[in-house]
Amino acid sequence: MANAVDVLTPERPVKQQGRTKTTGYAAHSSTSPLQPFSLERRDPGPQDVQIEILFCGVCHSDLHTVRNEWTNTTYPVVPGHEIIGRVAKAGAQVRRFKEGDLAAVGCMVDSDRVCASCKAGLEQYCESGPTFTYNSEDKHLGGMTYGGYSRTIVVDEAFVLRPPADLDPAGTAPLLCAGITTYSPLRRWKVAKGQRVGIVGLGGLGHMGVKLANAFGAHVALFTTSAHKTADAKRLGAHEVVVSKDPAQMEKHVNSFDFILDTVSAEHDINAYLNLLKRDGTLVLVGAPEKPLALSAFSIIPARRQLSGSMIGGIPETQEMLDFCGEHGITSDIEIIPIQKINEAYERMLRSDVKYRFVIDMASLK
Ligand code: NAP
Ligand code: ZN
Repeated sequence: MANAVDVLTPERPVKQQGRTKTTGYAAHSSTSPLQPFSLERRDPGPQDVQIEILFCGVCHSDLHTVRNEWTNTTYPVVPGHEIIGRVAKAGAQVRRFKEGDLAAVGCMVDSDRVCASCKAGLEQYCESGPTFTYNSEDKHLGGMTYGGYSRTIVVDEAFVLRPPADLDPAGTAPLLCAGITTYSPLRRWKVAKGQRVGIVGLGGLGHMGVKLANAFGAHVALFTTSAHKTADAKRLGAHEVVVSKDPAQMEKHVNSFDFILDTVSAEHDINAYLNLLKRDGTLVLVGAPEKPLALSAFSIIPARRQLSGSMIGGIPETQEMLDFCGEHGITSDIEIIPIQKINEAYERMLRSDVKYRFVIDMASLK
């Protein structure tokens, strides 16, 4: 079987293709709820895979985008980038998928495929800007790309992933964003046995960070604002839990971590976590709060600490992560909802009231 990266060839001009109507859920403004929406998908071309969506995870990025918190949303927006489905049709040149196969799509559906980042398998850092699964320019149909809160999606084979056969498909869906977004920095900074690793926030990303850092052999501490999550955090793989609102608990950990992954979606004090790093330790932000975070120079100067960020992961690494999760039996802890409950789910996510990822059962979408 060809590797996903083998089929990343330079983009060819796309012929105008036919289109088919399907249904989904969209938001029409930053203040309106998601509601049923009729949209079009291109008919699959020779390199395309048409996927009947079974499950789609609900990421906090969906909520940031629906509410225009990053001030870049074009409406109507159909969110969803944690997609698991079945192949309904595979184009004539598609090599890795056939009708009936399970298939997955994450946060990107295309990139320029020729820049240094794409050649390195880091399409998320494509120098022309990747085509995100939703709220990006749709190069085929015009308008914007529409995501996984819908019945079907059509994606170039090069951006379609193969989920492990043995894992529960619904619990696999969140791996496509929450999984890869935590896996990639843990790998990049070589998290391993013998290291002390902190994960900040026990939400969709955070709970995957705990599971993966544990699977990589590190000593894992979970930092949470929600003391009631302590038992769950330990069950998920944390060796210790620190309630970050308690200064005495935080003080005990000063200068003691090799690496900290911050998944917090809202304004918070990153200096409090930088101070917990050892000399040359690294804090990586994956959480993307809408407002800038304050940085004190004295949080990084004295111990030569490093602050970085990381965005999802490239296609080869996403497949590697899925295979790793297949080998280790790792899926997301999920609450399955019908799509009609999506607006309620957003409110619960804002209250950190989800264990630990909502996943939409797309069979609920009539
Ligand atoms: P989530 O499920 O809502 O989890 C966020 C967690 O942050 C909460 O469970 C909570 O954990 C903590 N938190 C929330 N508000 C807080 C506050 N005011 N102060 C301190 N902690 C707070 O969200 P998610 O889907 O994991 O996404 C997390 C962030 O990552 C979002 O900003 C999202 O857009 C971003 N993201 C980035 C990438 C990337 O590529 N970099 C990819 C996906 C998502 P506790 O209750 O344990 O404190
Ligand atoms: Zn996401």
